[in-house]
Amino acid sequence: MSASTNAPTPTAGQTLPNLASLNQSAAGMANGPAIQAIDLVKDYGTGDFAVHALRHVNVAFERGRFTAIMGPSGSGKSTLMHVLSGLDCATSGHVLFDGNDITTFDDKQLTLMRRDSVGFIFQSFNLLPMFAAEQNIAMPLTLAGKKPDRQWLHRLAADLGIEDRLSHRPAELSGGQQQRVAIARALITHPHVVFADEPTGALDSISSAEVLGMLRRLVDETGQTVIMVTHDAAAAAYADRAIVFSDGRIVADVDHPTEEGMSALVMEQRRATAQAAASNAAAPNAPAPNAGPAGL
Ligand code: ADP
Repeated sequence: MSASTNAPTPTAGQTLPNLASLNQSAAGMANGPAIQAIDLVKDYGTGDFAVHALRHVNVAFERGRFTAIMGPSGSGKSTLMHVLSGLDCATSGHVLFDGNDITTFDDKQLTLMRRDSVGFIFQSFNLLPMFAAEQNIAMPLTLAGKKPDRQWLHRLAADLGIEDRLSHRPAELSGGQQQRVAIARALITHPHVVFADEPTGALDSISSAEVLGMLRRLVDETGQTVIMVTHDAAAAAYADRAIVFSDGRIVADVDHPTEEGMSALVMEQRRATAQAAASNAAAPNAPAPNAGPAGL
């Protein structure tokens, strides 16, 4: 991704121009974390039926780092990602995005933030089947009524090895190629943060390694901030840091994760979740952990 070093810097010191009315100093935005969750709570439902998906979560994501979020199914990983990226609202607590508290944003501000400052990569690629790769990559700008920077689009496509596939529709591309198109689409707006939700979940091991290597280079060579949800310890080992969730809480926060270390940690959490579920079944009136499908 070396070519992208000549492009406008995607992260460092960028402010949210459409949200300039918010009372934050530029210095604070440049120096603080890219995103910070403060005492973040997310409940689904109320009363006895409430599911406590996030229980007073405090975590900061530094700029230019690659963070993996792991944990058993139902532990709150996706909920955290959705609340941090403004896709869902918090029950209480705060999310500082470039220093701006997005929990105070109205729908229009959230839409602008997601459009201009966040890139999303999904497990199932989420490409539009009737459009060619090039149109899919440009789609976030097209939807915003803007013209893509053709030089940047072609630079991304070249760096991701899909320049000769730009006229192809998704059905004419392999899974790995489709995910590269999705990565280019996530980067076309020069986002401050890229969120990847199980980006290798639908890929074979070779394509997975290629995609993870690309995310790694993106962080190393352009200073992009990447936050990735994954159930795969091998994928987490590409990150600078791995956070493990269990029952709506962070239970481990590891720098320089290894595949072996993360496998062991996640197995431990899976056992704890199964044990809690078993004791809850034996004593049905005891406070319940979040229900989720078995396994990761
Ligand atoms: P993970 O991504 O770790 O699998 P989630 O964040 O999807 O976990 O879910 C955390 C908890 O919140 C689970 O118990 C799940 O069933 C619940 N949950 C998630 N989304 C909703 C929703 N829209 N309505 C009700 N409960 C939900």
